[in-house]
Amino acid sequence: MGLATKIQPRLRSFEARVRIWGRRRPLLQTIAIVLVSGLVYGIAFRLAISTFLRDNLSVCWPIVGLQVAFFLRTPRRFWPQMITGMVIVQVTLEWSQPIDQVVSDTVSDVAELLIAAYCLPPLNGVSRWIKERGLLKRFIVWPALLGPAITGFPVAAAYSRDLDLHVSYWPYWARWFTGDAIGIVLWLPLGVILISRETYALFAWKNLSRTLGLLGTFSLVGWALFNYKPTPIAFLLMPFLLLIAFKLGFSGSAIAVNILSIVSAKGTLHRLGPFGSIQEPYSVTALQAFLAVSMLMCFPVSILQLERDDFERETREAYERMEKLAISDGLTGLANRRRFDDIFDQEWRRAMREGEPVGVMMIDVDSFKLFNDFYGHLAGDQCLRNIADSIRSTVNRAGDLPARFGGEEFVVLMPGTDLFGVLQVAEVLRYRIELLRLEHKRSLHQIVTVSVGCWSAIPKIGTLPASLIEAADQGLYSAKLNGRNRVSTISAEIEEAAVRAS
Ligand code: GH3
Ligand code: MG
Ligand code: MG
Repeated sequence: MGLATKIQPRLRSFEARVRIWGRRRPLLQTIAIVLVSGLVYGIAFRLAISTFLRDNLSVCWPIVGLQVAFFLRTPRRFWPQMITGMVIVQVTLEWSQPIDQVVSDTVSDVAELLIAAYCLPPLNGVSRWIKERGLLKRFIVWPALLGPAITGFPVAAAYSRDLDLHVSYWPYWARWFTGDAIGIVLWLPLGVILISRETYALFAWKNLSRTLGLLGTFSLVGWALFNYKPTPIAFLLMPFLLLIAFKLGFSGSAIAVNILSIVSAKGTLHRLGPFGSIQEPYSVTALQAFLAVSMLMCFPVSILQLERDDFERETREAYERMEKLAISDGLTGLANRRRFDDIFDQEWRRAMREGEPVGVMMIDVDSFKLFNDFYGHLAGDQCLRNIADSIRSTVNRAGDLPARFGGEEFVVLMPGTDLFGVLQVAEVLRYRIELLRLEHKRSLHQIVTVSVGCWSAIPKIGTLPASLIEAADQGLYSAKLNGRNRVSTISAEIEEAAVRAS
């Protein structure tokens, strides 16, 4: 990752430090929030007026959109301080205007901001925010439509009363409404993505060429289209925008639409591009509507894309979990009997083809019934887990497969290992379990011990894997018979019989 990863942790630790400082000095914190939000608002207000205001009304009023994004990111308890800062600055900047204009401007701006901020979910990462249930509907109904519509009334009343301005009520209301609605639709998403970490991942090294390639192509096509002679072919941009929404997500598409708003404005004002043949000022209105609809279209596309990613990830995880559950033993985490049987079968056939030995050891906990009776079943389970851990750490050659055979019996498959090798490992294991010194008052040795039966054979055609298990089991039986806590193989005569049988 590039710059973003370097800056992010620093920003976060700065945020944390500020928060701690704020908790210690609440009064200073309040003053600081009022000052900072007032200052930022003042600068943004001035910039917006010089950039967007014509004939005392905005073509597009970006400030509310950006403000709402910051409000959504900030806990609600700080909102009163932020609003206080804003109000002080706005009243100061408009001091020379008639009082009813100042009041209606201020009240309407604050109301518009609060309507949007209360209707939208708090911001904690773009993907989470955009997936909030009913977000698009909430966004269109309140922040984009009703907020600007309602707040337009008092402002239109105040300004239309001013005879020097020569503005009448409804045209003024309509321009307030379109300016603010477009401002919110375009700039609120931009504000949201600008203060979200996910956006900066688009500009990490590994994604940079794709991001710049897509956004660059889109900007070029948009610029060419809007600076070409008036031809109604704005729809040509739609597939590009969809591609960006799919490839770069909501952040990418919000950036794309805002770049488009920049490259399209000049051409349209010069009567060029898809809306160039429309009479002014409706050409600008048409452009605004086009941009707003493009932005709104990116919401459902990005949501679908995110939900598809979620679904894909959840399905994959569920499958992996199921696969793991199907082959492992829930108590000990070792392979289960089914897994053991499968692998044993494969190894048996492979060893038969290659003429190699297959080793097996059967491990059985000594006097475990008594352990359970004395310490309880839960302690018994823990004991089995400890033994399983010992088996896992003792048997670690690639290809070896320890498994829970059932109850308090374990089995280890050791492909390519002769009886001598199996016996060696079995002895190490028995000794290690003895060293655990797990208390077992009811056993002969006062500690938990195991008996191990071992066998190894080169599989012959016509023999079954079960014969090997049987031979190891016989060894286990003789270990039990000879006093437990020992490693054994089948006795000589059974050995001969087994050899004859295999
Ligand atoms: P031996 O030394 O002859 O092996 O004696 P033993 O008591 O261990 O032999 P037996 O096979 O009769 O007893 C096995 C006991 O293991 C029976 C059962 O209570 C216990 N057991 C089997 N599976 C589990 C398990 O999953 N958890 C617990 N806690 N106990 C189990
Ligand atoms: Mg047993
Ligand atoms: Mg036992």
